[in-house]
Amino acid sequence: MPRRATALVAAALVAAGARAQDDPITEARVRETVAWLAADERRGRDTGSPELEQVADWIAERFAQAGLEPVPELGWFHGWTLPGLRLDPAGVQVVLRRKLGNDTAEFPLAAGADVRWWRPGDVPNGRDDASTVASADDAALQQMLLAKSARRPVFLEVAEDDPDWLRAAGPHVLLAGRRAAAKPVFLVRKGVLPQAPADDREVAWSATWSTPAAETVEVPLRNVMGLLPGTTQADEHVVVSAHYDHLGVGRPVGGDAIYNGADDNASGTMAVLLLAEALRRQPAPRRSILFVCFAAEERGLLGSAAFCERPPVPLERVVVNLNLEMIGRPEPGNEGKAWVTGRDLSDFAAILEGPLQRSGVLLVDFRMADTLFAASDNWSFVRHGIVAHSVSAGSLHRDYHRPSDEADRLDVAHMARIVRGLAAAVRELADRDAPPAWNEKGRARVERARR
Ligand SMILES: [Zn+2]
Repeated sequence: MPRRATALVAAALVAAGARAQDDPITEARVRETVAWLAADERRGRDTGSPELEQVADWIAERFAQAGLEPVPELGWFHGWTLPGLRLDPAGVQVVLRRKLGNDTAEFPLAAGADVRWWRPGDVPNGRDDASTVASADDAALQQMLLAKSARRPVFLEVAEDDPDWLRAAGPHVLLAGRRAAAKPVFLVRKGVLPQAPADDREVAWSATWSTPAAETVEVPLRNVMGLLPGTTQADEHVVVSAHYDHLGVGRPVGGDAIYNGADDNASGTMAVLLLAEALRRQPAPRRSILFVCFAAEERGLLGSAAFCERPPVPLERVVVNLNLEMIGRPEPGNEGKAWVTGRDLSDFAAILEGPLQRSGVLLVDFRMADTLFAASDNWSFVRHGIVAHSVSAGSLHRDYHRPSDEADRLDVAHMARIVRGLAAAVRELADRDAPPAWNEKGRARVERARR
């Protein structure tokens, strides 16, 4: 090979190498981003937790580093509040009484040391109130608490290192929607009360108790946003989103109490970040792209609802929302495949199919895709008439909403491939002449959603 040609080949190789380094969508960056978001240090990114605020700051920093712009007049954050109750456990008074056959024994419980206030009730006090005393991991009791049907005061026996016990040590804020029932729920340190009798004598518990009034507070929460301005149609926006919150710390399963939410939805959050970084390095799109990470999805799509209620850009200028949910755990054989919720309601999936396929991602059907259409943040946009779908690239696996939804169970190569496909798909949404539109079935669905 002549010397000059060798030099040209070498130069081309260097350029290709530089381009590869420039491409932010690599398996290494997928892995490190998801691992940071789902690490135990984030403590499950619970709504209202200091860790969620730390994550919000981190996302904003990455948007800034990527070269996105803050939203005019608002900046990187879309702030809103959620009502909560501040519980001050000082001043809680509890005496438990146990009737065992003909014997009665009284157990005055020291506030803070023996008993801690966990959930408020509508009723501030009671006398000789028939009560439920049970171990916190009692399955029937868990069902009752989840159903919010506790009509009696409930006393949960917990270990001293139980995360709920630790959290209930001082004043703490409980977000609305987590309120238990008419009567309060208390935590009792294991070992304070006697064990159930070995014989079959019946045990009946009652309590005389009083709790101070819970103070109503507004808990500030933040959606995080970054703007990639468009060129010729900059006032039209494509919203690319994912929720960055998860369930926090809860009931331990197999000794693990941190609900990491690696697939749900550190994977989607990672995708939004890498898409922002990748698209920012390309020539500017025609339409603007607004990247948004929503808070409090797990509490009922609250972040996206707040976003649509007081939108940072006029909603009539939002042409489509592509929302990302759980892209890290494909069923065997579905690597490199994605699916769209509510796909037969608009031409959104048909528009995405080509660009996805050209980058090696197939759109497939998923049996629950229609049910899940209303189960993530895209739904808040649907309720305002905006064409909005969630794209997922996984399954409802057995670690879903469990502490075992960990980063090391995600398929990194699959995620990198999906994000590359999504970069082409988002590009298409931002550049094509006609934005996606509902079809007749979709319009009917929107009408129902608005009611
Ligand atoms: Zn989710």
